[in-house]
Amino acid sequence: MHAAADGGLARIRVPGGRLTAPQLRGLAGAASAWGTGVIELTSRANVQVRGLGAGSAPAGRDGTAETSGRTGAADRFAARMAEAGLLPSPTHERVRNVLASPLTGCDAGGTLDAGPLVSELDRRLCARAALAGLPGRFLFALDDGRGDVAWLGPDAGILPTRADGAALILAGADSGLRVPVTSAVTALLAAAEAFLAEPAVREGRAWRIGELPGGAGRVAARVRATLETGAADPVRLRPPAERLRAGPPSAAGGPIGAVEQPDGRVALGVAVPLGRLTSAQAELLAALASGGEVRLTPWRGVVLPGLARAGLARTLTRLADAGLVTDAGSPWIGVTACTGRPGCAKSLADVRADAARATVSGPGIAPPVADSPRTGTLPVHWAGCERRCGRPRGRVADVVATGDGYRVDLDGRSLACADIEETTAVVTAARGET
Ligand code: SF4
Repeated sequence: MHAAADGGLARIRVPGGRLTAPQLRGLAGAASAWGTGVIELTSRANVQVRGLGAGSAPAGRDGTAETSGRTGAADRFAARMAEAGLLPSPTHERVRNVLASPLTGCDAGGTLDAGPLVSELDRRLCARAALAGLPGRFLFALDDGRGDVAWLGPDAGILPTRADGAALILAGADSGLRVPVTSAVTALLAAAEAFLAEPAVREGRAWRIGELPGGAGRVAARVRATLETGAADPVRLRPPAERLRAGPPSAAGGPIGAVEQPDGRVALGVAVPLGRLTSAQAELLAALASGGEVRLTPWRGVVLPGLARAGLARTLTRLADAGLVTDAGSPWIGVTACTGRPGCAKSLADVRADAARATVSGPGIAPPVADSPRTGTLPVHWAGCERRCGRPRGRVADVVATGDGYRVDLDGRSLACADIEETTAVVTAARGET
């Protein structure tokens, strides 16, 4: 729970982005009961709910009424999350930041099913008391071999290079160490412990391996000393634009639309505009999840695995009617925004409202070309200040509020825009690469 400008903010970790349908339903109910009714999806495939206790009685001179209102809402919200099984370890809640390939086990895109590794990592992480001391920014990634989440800059991750062997990724790059898949979780925990052993971490001067000078090399050396590891030719982490040429339609890495499963069912990738899922949309996703599972993606979308092919057309219609996106050519694909006003006191604009206005009213956004899914959908990130929170990795058009409009930055060039109409025109041109 954090205090934000628009009330209490609860962040809930969802290792591997995996929720059961009842958990998503519980989250939707709690977000409506005590928050704004919106579930925000994060770039770590976690969720957050804002405005907890915001409707409580105004504070007296000592702030007592408002504070107790917020605390009461937060306590009830936390109790509901615990009931839903979403708070299994209060001591380790902040450190359960685990990405996994969202389509793992569904299609033929990976070398292995990373799902069991997610459960094993979460269980063993929570079982080690010392690892509760990891900084909350430390990020694990379990890539299934397709290279989607290994590319997202995890502190410690694995990227399988064959069915029984994996590269250990440290600080977002290949460490050069190779481990058997059966030892993958052991290697990740060893890397986390090696990081915690660094004096700068113990003294609170570093939160990520990449913040330590020579950090990846030092952590790799400690891991090598405690584990049997091999070495091999370096693996190259491929950015989304390169991977997408061979993969399914995608939003900067996240699946969009139907992906065939070997069992004849489909996994359905759904984009959520600006990563804001209303409670009604969440209820709908839970109802449609006939496979019983909803997977959140680090691209602020959702995957529904195991859907029957029959009835898919009806499912797509219901999702579209609810404002969710399953069309890889939608102008919403690749558009992200920070919190902005009113949730962030630093923001110079209501960036989400402006991003929505620019996206749905942008003149003539170029449609994607068949073998080049990125055309017309260059990622765009709207930010209320220079910090650009939540900016995706890779080539992105930045739209930054200046107090006098917006500034659009792309490829080292900047254009100042005085109002939203001018900003919309510049963003549209940038997305169409004109
Ligand atoms: S980028 Fe600035 S305005 Fe946006 S959430 Fe971060 S601090 Fe707030």
